[in-house]
Amino acid sequence: MSGQFRKALIRKGAALLALTIGIGAICPMTTPSHAEELAKNLFGATKLPAATEPRSYGFYSKGCFSGGVAIAADGPTWQAMRLSRNRRWGHPTMIRLLEKFSRDAVKDGWPGLLIGDISQPRGGPMLTGHASHQIGLDADVWFTPMPKERMSASRRETLSAVSMIKGSGLTVDERRWSESRMRLLKRAASYPEVERILVHPGIKKKLCDTVTGDRSWLRKVRPFWGHDAHFHVRIGCQPGSSGCKGQSLPPAGDGCDQSLAWWFTEEPWRPNKNPDAPKARDVMKISALPKACLAVLNAPSPESEAVVTLGGRGDTQTAAAVPSEPAVEAVPPLAANAYSATPQSAIPVPRPRAKVGGADR
Ligand SMILES: [Zn+2]
Repeated sequence: MSGQFRKALIRKGAALLALTIGIGAICPMTTPSHAEELAKNLFGATKLPAATEPRSYGFYSKGCFSGGVAIAADGPTWQAMRLSRNRRWGHPTMIRLLEKFSRDAVKDGWPGLLIGDISQPRGGPMLTGHASHQIGLDADVWFTPMPKERMSASRRETLSAVSMIKGSGLTVDERRWSESRMRLLKRAASYPEVERILVHPGIKKKLCDTVTGDRSWLRKVRPFWGHDAHFHVRIGCQPGSSGCKGQSLPPAGDGCDQSLAWWFTEEPWRPNKNPDAPKARDVMKISALPKACLAVLNAPSPESEAVVTLGGRGDTQTAAAVPSEPAVEAVPPLAANAYSATPQSAIPVPRPRAKVGGADR
């Protein structure tokens, strides 16, 4: 460890301590009787993260996290979208990775990232949208390039992400798809922390048909419903999160095989036989989440959003103390990186669904 990095870590520790001591608002108490409440209502109402150590609990689609930080609404190489949703929160590793990704993307010739949903301040199920994004380790990035101008908050609510898929078909719209988007995905897949990137099957097919040279990164790019106008970056469980349940790595190979061919059959697109059945997210009670999630709801908040916002303009106290570049690169290969075994857990099996779009957007 370099002396400089050690110093940076000490500064980071001091800042975290200051953050913990300087606790402002305390969240309304959530008692064990809340255990039967719908998790989405409680987690959907949180405004600020739990001001404790960064830890993810549970699985991507059933969990929560503490110690979250926000990506700044504006950075030199990104703009965050849909600010009203308050979903700019993630595990610090995720936020630093997005910032690095945005800088690398610009070096690759992409104009900058439009950042979609990450997580709610304390994760958990959402009132609308995503099934996953619950433990601070998932983020959506638009295929739409960042415009030159800084968009107003209202523009960020209304601008639509443009689909890369032609009509209601399953193939890429050649007028919109570009090699620069392929490079963007390749860059995202290059980070050891990234375990999966979800894209529409038509986009995966396009990559299978066109990527030459090194194709090993295609293993991380997996087909999924939705994800035609944005892609979804998923990182592995981070060190210090023993309660985080990882996902098995994708099968070996580039994934341009039977598993992809299935998406071009009729089965995945069959109308849902029971369209009125509630989604897991809509019925999940607090008691169904890891026990720690009740404590995460009850944990104190930081004194303001600014002290837990990293990067961007007006770097905050916390951001100044957290080494943004080295932190991502200095993380040693630990148990949960993309190339080592992750704990056993259920792999979400694709289910036939009524239409493109829906839960994971
Ligand atoms: Zn997503």
